[in-house]
Amino acid sequence: MDTVAPEKEIIEVIKEQGGDSFKYCYQCGRCDVVCPWNRVRDFSMRKIIRQATFGLTEIEQEEMWRCTTCKTCVDNCPRGVDQITAGVALRKLGAEYDVYPGNVGPIQTVVANLTSEGNSLGGDKEMRAEWAKDLPVKTYTEGMEVLYFTGCYLSYDPRMRKVAVATATLLNKAGVDFGILGSKESCCGESIRKTGNEDLFKRLAKENIKEFIDHGVKKVVVSSPHCYHSFKNEYPEFMVNFEVIFISQYINELVNSGRLKLTGEYARKVTYHDPCYLGRHNGIYDEPRELLQQVTGLEMSEMVDSREKSLCCGGGGGRIWMETPKEDRFSDLRVRQAVDAGAEVLVTSCPYCITNFTDSSLDLDEGDTLEIKDITEIILEAL
Ligand code: SF4
Ligand code: SF4
Repeated sequence: MDTVAPEKEIIEVIKEQGGDSFKYCYQCGRCDVVCPWNRVRDFSMRKIIRQATFGLTEIEQEEMWRCTTCKTCVDNCPRGVDQITAGVALRKLGAEYDVYPGNVGPIQTVVANLTSEGNSLGGDKEMRAEWAKDLPVKTYTEGMEVLYFTGCYLSYDPRMRKVAVATATLLNKAGVDFGILGSKESCCGESIRKTGNEDLFKRLAKENIKEFIDHGVKKVVVSSPHCYHSFKNEYPEFMVNFEVIFISQYINELVNSGRLKLTGEYARKVTYHDPCYLGRHNGIYDEPRELLQQVTGLEMSEMVDSREKSLCCGGGGGRIWMETPKEDRFSDLRVRQAVDAGAEVLVTSCPYCITNFTDSSLDLDEGDTLEIKDITEIILEAL
């Protein structure tokens, strides 16, 4: 098959975008061994790297869109190749030529939604704070303790809105002086950036940064590991300075300082899933477990692949918006791992993970008895 872009251009684009570490690859194949795709079908990041090194990438094929940016290969490569940065550099060519093949097609709608409404789900921008309408949740003003950056899925998705409500309820119970930006909040832009759409990422980031500055924001609490990653590691590219803390870290702090008292009981067997963008990308493994272990009656059980080896849900890198045939879902494998660990509840703290695990648990016979929960929902029950 022909390549869409000239070979030289592909090599140059990869270099420009920081994907130059491709050249250190010595084709050992370790990335393919650890990649979750090879648990469900054949997929070779090693081959993609080889083709790209020679400028032979076929951008009209779906292969370069498979990577979920889970970071397992990056952490295991003996030559320090950054497969994610290099893979995103290839996608930039696809985005530039507007080539979104087969199951990648829905990205076009997501781009339109983000451009017009500032969220990937196509919800009305003015309705972004609708989830909070019956709650004592204020609009953020300068001097408040924290900004609660709700994120797209928690603002619009019916299942995830319950998590936003649980979070706001916990913050109120702890007496935290917090506010939200409502319709002035836009998508953090992390996932669309991983589809190669750098311009749209920059636009969304600048919109949020403007609001943070206008509102005098100093500290931001987030519910999505993708917002966390972007604010912590990507927004500093715009020379902006604010503190970001993940909700499970923040709740853990509130419990440890005595502001939130866990006086209730949650007598269930629970297993915790480390989202890729909280664990491997940002090293947050301990606080969520520490928090869960403070709950009376809760029994923790680890899955086969946990912490640094956590099995990706399949939703990162923009994959949450693409079609993934049933037989290719990593989330089915993860739900089975949770059941095998003897868990009654699979708990995590990522909107993409919860969406994918909920779909899998509904489809699989083994998942019938498994509940999928966000960590805030469990803590709320344990008050
Ligand atoms: S693990 Fe690293 S060196 Fe080995 S094939 Fe993959 S990218 Fe190349
Ligand atoms: S980041 Fe994850 S999904 Fe992507 S190639 Fe590496 S191991 Fe596979």
